[in-house]
Amino acid sequence: MKNKLKILFVSSEVAPFAKTGGLADVAGSLPQAIKEEGHDIRVVMPQYRQIPWDYLQNLEHQLHFRTRVGWRDNYVGVNSLEREGVINYFIDNKNYFDRDSLYDNKDKHIQFAYFCRAVLEMLPKINFQPDIIHCNDWQTGPLSIMLKENYQTYDFYKDIKTVYTIHNLRYQGVFGKEVLDDVLALHSKYWDWGVVCHDDCINYMKMGIEMSDMITTVSKTYASEIKTPYFGEGLDYVLRMNADDLYGIVNGISYQENDPTSDNRIYANYSADNLSGKYENKRRLQEDMGLPIREDVPVISLISRLVEQKGLDLISAIVDELLQEDIQLIILGTGEYFYEEMFKDIGRRYPNKVAANIRYDSNLAQKIYAGSDIFLMPSKYEPCGLGQLFSLRYGTIPLVRETGGLNDTIKSYNEVTGEGNGFTFKNYNAHDMLYTIRRAINLYHQPELWDKLVRRAMSFDFSWNKSANEYIELYCRLLGINQEELDKNKELEAKVLKLNMNSENKVEGLGDLIQKVNLNLASKENLTELKGIGPHLADKIINYRSQEGMFKNLDELKKIKGVGNKLFGELKKLLTY
Ligand code: ADP
Repeated sequence: MKNKLKILFVSSEVAPFAKTGGLADVAGSLPQAIKEEGHDIRVVMPQYRQIPWDYLQNLEHQLHFRTRVGWRDNYVGVNSLEREGVINYFIDNKNYFDRDSLYDNKDKHIQFAYFCRAVLEMLPKINFQPDIIHCNDWQTGPLSIMLKENYQTYDFYKDIKTVYTIHNLRYQGVFGKEVLDDVLALHSKYWDWGVVCHDDCINYMKMGIEMSDMITTVSKTYASEIKTPYFGEGLDYVLRMNADDLYGIVNGISYQENDPTSDNRIYANYSADNLSGKYENKRRLQEDMGLPIREDVPVISLISRLVEQKGLDLISAIVDELLQEDIQLIILGTGEYFYEEMFKDIGRRYPNKVAANIRYDSNLAQKIYAGSDIFLMPSKYEPCGLGQLFSLRYGTIPLVRETGGLNDTIKSYNEVTGEGNGFTFKNYNAHDMLYTIRRAINLYHQPELWDKLVRRAMSFDFSWNKSANEYIELYCRLLGINQEELDKNKELEAKVLKLNMNSENKVEGLGDLIQKVNLNLASKENLTELKGIGPHLADKIINYRSQEGMFKNLDELKKIKGVGNKLFGELKKLLTY
């Protein structure tokens, strides 16, 4: 009786452990939402030097072994940490992940081939046999082909399916042909078939698309855009060929971690019902940014990687015209030298209007989301975009170009009907953007209407609720599982668990309904759900398992200190091994 899915979510970055962009936000919040639906989802990422010490010092060593990357023989450490109910595994190898940069390394083709192989090989060792391995972006592109080529002849792996999510098609992991043999140890037939290469180079992104069982990307609009040459980054033909397996699911954000009523990173808390805290945020932000403290001037902000994708050339084209308006502009970003210098220069020329913060600072980002009036995101293309979702949550009105996920999440304000949750423009044209900013400024100066729009923006729900369920639906479809049946089984399990916990009920009477807990597979959480097992005893059971190997019979449980005859008698009825 299957009552939950088992999923391994594989990502090269996961917030709050390590982040360079939106992928980390997704990997740090989608698994929690899927877990809340009752599934066993775990996350795995590289153990980078950049992970804050607060987390590193709490990692628990699980095990270590060696694996091969081509001819290289490498150590693999597997450490773990539970965060918000989800187990995160960290693949530890100082040679590959103790670096100054996450991705800017000459041997990144080896780093991430190693990561994929280590992930696959750790699974039987940690005794986790997922139904689905969910990979993300080019860094995990080789995993599906490795699984199919090297592992699926073994029983343990044979039923595992893969999902591959494209978060940004621009970054593909393109390397020389020698990588096929030297790093991936793959047969040359894959090159001849064309599934691993594009433009005479090995392409990790293409591999992920071609060899995974299902492909998703992070919004419906981007899913259709990438099938066209303009957005397809050279791989549009691959996406058209795989169109039947390609789905678009819009990203969400964590509404618990990003909650203006309780967020302690912002200056003052507030809600849609009482916006006074938002104005306090604006005042304090202006003060911190060295800008004149004025309530009547619209604060426009931009928080972004400073790269071409983000539409920064549009800003560059009209910035002097824009700054003739009575506005303040706050920038937070790092990236290409040209754009960093451009914003520094604007900051120097307009000290009373512009604050350019050329750095990465997640606390300041939060303060800006809360303290601004308008959030600018004029992207040339945008797979999903998260900045506009954070803005909505904090009552800051997004002003975006209609592309990708921006198109799916922001509906333009209609001056006649009052509908919409932001401002949008269609063409990639600087003056169209300027005109739209002026529309927004105009509305800002009608405080009653503006307040209404702010409250309206805050009422939109872009939490993971809906999208997490869309992923679960896809997983079920891929596994050929009837989701309704799964849900029914889940309900049944909940009932049984309740009965198990209630000592008044005699377990024997329940016959087939009883789903015993497997002593060798149960997580700490599963164990503590049983009457008589607290967190301390659950730890001891798990420790015993990792030191002695599997329980070979239930009697072995008596060897654990704290399991007396009476407790053993009770537990025996609820456990299997
Ligand atoms: P992308 O993944 O293309 O960078 P997204 O909008 O999907 O774009 O996600 C960007 C994420 O990175 C958001 O959470 C945004 O707040 C954050 N971010 C970008 N630049 C900075 C910065 N300089 N400081 C802090 N956070 C940043």
